[in-house]
Amino acid sequence: LIVLGIETSCDDTAAAIVRGNGEILSQVVSSQADLLAQYGGVAPKMAEEAHLQVIDKVVQEALDKAKLTETNLSAVAVTIGPGLGLCLRVGVRKAREIAGSCNLPIIGVHHMEAHALVARLTERELQFPFMALLISGGHNLLILARDLGQYVQLGTTIDDAIGEAYDKTAKWLGLDLRRSGGPAIEELAREGDAKSVKFSTPMKQHKDCNFSYAGLKTQVRLAIESKNINTTIPLSSASSEDRRIRADIAASFQRVAVLHLEERCERAIEWALKIEPSVKHLVVSGGVASNQYVRSRLDQVVKKNSLQLVCPPPCLCTDNGVMVAWTGIENFRMGRFDPPPPADEPEDIVYELRPRWPLGEEYAEGRSEAR
Ligand code: ATP
Ligand code: FE
Repeated sequence: LIVLGIETSCDDTAAAIVRGNGEILSQVVSSQADLLAQYGGVAPKMAEEAHLQVIDKVVQEALDKAKLTETNLSAVAVTIGPGLGLCLRVGVRKAREIAGSCNLPIIGVHHMEAHALVARLTERELQFPFMALLISGGHNLLILARDLGQYVQLGTTIDDAIGEAYDKTAKWLGLDLRRSGGPAIEELAREGDAKSVKFSTPMKQHKDCNFSYAGLKTQVRLAIESKNINTTIPLSSASSEDRRIRADIAASFQRVAVLHLEERCERAIEWALKIEPSVKHLVVSGGVASNQYVRSRLDQVVKKNSLQLVCPPPCLCTDNGVMVAWTGIENFRMGRFDPPPPADEPEDIVYELRPRWPLGEEYAEGRSEAR
């Protein structure tokens, strides 16, 4: 089994080829980070344009690196949601074009399910049921994965995701955004004193597993405004005092942002064990999971509760094609795929996309437990 995975749900155009046994034959990611830094966020129309410019090249490169042609593929997997409709469409069109011309089955993949399931490629011991904390730019999810396609949502964000808070903090601190905000904050935070600025931990009074980062974002913005620093000067040319203040804010923000994750995970482990007492692992994935501080703090929480932490390598935590190909493989094996599209599908056809697509059912008893 050889599956091509295509991912275009947000700002990265990615493709990868993975074998049924989990061997990664190739992976290619083209990032729009430069565009983002220039415009300060993802503008759907511009992101679509950027995907259109590189999609053919990215897929061809994935085939070339794997020393394969389209005819060697067994199936094509593609993200159909959640994400930006315009962007998803670019990947889906490309996937259907290949599947149509080579008569291949096609698998529509849930982006967040892919972030979670890629851990089963990197950690072969990982069996259902397991828990997953999925932390990225647009999502903050705590789920219990009972089986393939059977997810219980223990918690989600009521406003922003943690990655969004990292990105805004980086922007307001005037950091170099050519990579993305997360890594810039992680690096600067190493120099700072994490106890120097007092931020309050979100949702202390809510005894559930939900998240909120909008309030922390505001606290950070106000803290930055209250200091006498010039954030228009790049960090590399800032005075040492200015640099220290910025590092202190970065470190203090990161400590509280992650403390919120730790507290929610503690409670979610309790909830999950009530539903599935055989849970042994917590998967942490999504872009923010590439952060070393996040990993080490959550590792302690997990160990304290006699579970094991599973974190994919950083390049498989941020958006990538491997996770899509692998999720395609898992679903394909269960017979969950669509027949090949017609070879002469008209270009203006309306695809079945799912820009909003919840992952699993909400844990209903959580609401009464939270009281
Ligand atoms: P979603 O998965 O919710 O649709 P996305 O696909 O845009 O969002 P991912 O690539 O999964 O996002 O994650 C990107 C996010 O991860 C960004 O907010 C980025 O700042 C954050 N991130 C990446 N690396 C790190 C890091 N080392 N520390 C903290 N955050 C990070
Ligand atoms: Fe993502």
